[in-house]
Parts: sequence; C-alpha cells; structure tokens
Amino acid sequence: MTIFTDKMEEFGHEQLIFCQNKDVGLRAIIAIHDTTLGPALGGTRMWPYETEEEAIIDALRLARGMTSKAAAAGLNLGGGKAVIIGNSKTDKSEALFRAMGRFVESLQGRFITGEDVGIDVNDIEYMYMETRCVVGLSRAHGGGGDPSVVTAFGLVQGMRACTREKFGSESLQGLTVALQGLGNVGYHLAKFLTDHRVKVIGTDIDDEKVRRAVDQLGIVPVKPDEIYQLHADIFAPCALGGIINDETIPQFKFKIIAGSANNQLQEDRHGDDLQRRQILYAPDYVINAGGLINVFVELEGYDRERALRMTRSIYYNLTRVFEIARRENVPTSKAADRLVDQRINTVKQLKNMYTGHSLHRQRWETRRM
Ligand code: NAD
Repeated sequence: MTIFTDKMEEFGHEQLIFCQNKDVGLRAIIAIHDTTLGPALGGTRMWPYETEEEAIIDALRLARGMTSKAAAAGLNLGGGKAVIIGNSKTDKSEALFRAMGRFVESLQGRFITGEDVGIDVNDIEYMYMETRCVVGLSRAHGGGGDPSVVTAFGLVQGMRACTREKFGSESLQGLTVALQGLGNVGYHLAKFLTDHRVKVIGTDIDDEKVRRAVDQLGIVPVKPDEIYQLHADIFAPCALGGIINDETIPQFKFKIIAGSANNQLQEDRHGDDLQRRQILYAPDYVINAGGLINVFVELEGYDRERALRMTRSIYYNLTRVFEIARRENVPTSKAADRLVDQRINTVKQLKNMYTGHSLHRQRWETRRM
C-alpha cells in the first residue's frame, strides 16, 4: 500500500480524486473524507505545493477537519477539500477554474466547494458557470458574501459559553481580550467586543490593520510577540495555526482561549497541557464554524438572519463539549472529537433503518409516466 492509501485507511477517507486538464494547466486533487451526514463540503485551496505528495497530504488533512467542523456544528454535511497545485498570483485563468468546476460537477453533488487560501469570489464564479455545487458566491449571485462577520459573531457566542463555564456568567462586559490578528475575522470580532464594552488589546504584523483598529475601534495595540504574555481574561487567536505550543503555553496567564484560527494546537498533547493549567480551550473547529454555517445556509437560499440564528448554536455546541470534558475528565480538544464521533455514529445507525423512500419514489415516478 502507498502512504496515501495508508492515510486514507487510518482516517477513514472515502475517496481521493486526481484531476488533470493539460490544455488549461490544471492539476488538482479532491479528497472526500466522510459523507455519513451529507455531501462533503470544503473549500478549494490554490497553493504552489513543491510536490504532489505535499498536496495530497494537505487535501486529506483538511478534508478530515471539515468532517469534524460540520458534525460539531450539527450540520448535515460531510467533509471534503480540494487543492489546485499552482501559484494563485500567476496561474489563474477562466479556463482553469471552469475545468475545475467540471470536475466538481462530475461528482454529482458528492462534493460542494467554495473559497479557501488563494481563491477569491471571481474564481468561484467561473466554477459556478460549470456547476451549481459551489458556495461563497457574491450577494449579487444569491450567495452569502464575506463569511468573516458571521464567523466573528459565532466567536462571541462561543466566548459567552466559555465565560459561563469558567466564571459562572455569560456576560463579557468588563473583561479583557487579547486578540491576535486584525484581519477579516479579527476586525469584526474587535468591533463586536468593543461594542459590548470589552477591552481589546490587539496585534497584527500588518501595521495598517493595527492602525485601522486603533482609530476606528479604540483597541489598545501591542507588538506581535507581546500578545502571549498579556494579563487578559481571554486570548483570541485569529491569525495562524499552531500558536498553542511548547514555547507559548508557559507564557500564558489567560483563563480562556477562544479564537478563529484553524489548527491552533500545534500537537494534540498541547490540549492536555492547557487542561493541566486550567486554561479553558474552546476547540477551534467548534467555535469557528460560523463561516461554514453561513455557506450551509447559502445552499438552501441565503438569508443572513437565518445564518446568524443558526450560528448562535455554537454556544450550545461548546456547552456540550465542556460537559463531555467534565464528565469524562478529558481536555476539551478530545471532548470535541468525541462529540463528532457520537454524532456520526448515531446518524450511521439511523441509516440502518430502511425507510422505503426510494421504492416509493420509483413507483410514483412510474405511475406518472
Ligand atoms: P486574514 O488573512 O484576513 O487575517 C489574518 C490576519 O493575521 C492578517 O491581518 C495577518 O496580517 C495577521 N497575522 C499573520 N501572522 C500574524 C502574527 N504572527 N501575529 C499577528 N498577526 C498576524 O484571515 P481571516 O479571514 O481573518 O481568518 C483568520 C483565521 O481564522 C485564519 O486562520 C482562518 O483560517 C480562520 N478562519 C477564518 C474564517 C473566516 O470566516 N474568514 C472561518 C473559519 C476560520
């Protein structure tokens, strides 16, 4: 067996698809992890991977993450991801994305895709010319537009669940949040928080973004490497993955970690470290699901009110994670994985029951002919 089939077997991936169209220079990989709950949904990433192996591993890893995110959010979606091997600054063309759209279409609804690193709404609209299995369209095309405001709204719901668990109150007023990254999500989060009289101390490597947040929202700026040592109630990582690690954890005086960045724990064992230090960690894929909920709503006809209403459920999803962590005495990161397994296994069992739908529908169709 190859390293890839080994990985697929280890993590239970269903399908790995290699896509090539030499005429337009497309080389892409689509990974479908688990479709127990529904069609696999995950963005398409464009990245100049050095090797095909690197691209495949990334697609497999990201697809698995999407299964967890959708399952924990209570959505009827599975997990998948696509990667296009190429440079997003120099290799983009209408033909390339339309070719990609045709590959997505060929999967007949098993895979739905949208934006990820290196892809923007124009690329999605080229794919949309060839397939309806895309999300993240502009508002003009009936899409949900920029999801980051919904992601930030979800973070606030999650923070409330955290403060209730840690301090016995879901009010954020008067607390201090250390915010890393003042980009799309970070800026909206800072706005929500300052509107609720939360003190925000923020940082970004881009001075322009820091200035905007200071001028428009009145946040207190610090240098990027000072963020980890702050005396703040909550740390909100909204920039990079892997920032909870052996180097940063000993610096933490935070009580709660709740932010949007994906894959915040550098390794699983760092979740155990946080538990030992009594720092309450909101697992990233549970608290940052607002963007995914936003595109899910798009599938059924976009409605911002509905997206925000559904995003409020992040509060309850985290509450359930904390209950599992307490009951089973495990770190919250492991408790979230258990919540995911529970939901997928329950739905698997449900599917054992024959509902007669297909036979019924067949008869109905025959009668109408
Ligand atoms: P973004 O690129 O708009 O913002 C990230 C910001 O982090 C940038 O301003 C960047 O300059 C800054 N940054 C990078 N390295 C830094 C460092 N070392 N210290 C301080 N700042 C640094 O991205 P975004 O859309 O705001 O997403 C933020 C994170 O949340 C990403 O990890 C993303 O994967 C994740 N996420 C985003 C969404 C969404 O709806 N946009 C949904 C789920 C998860």
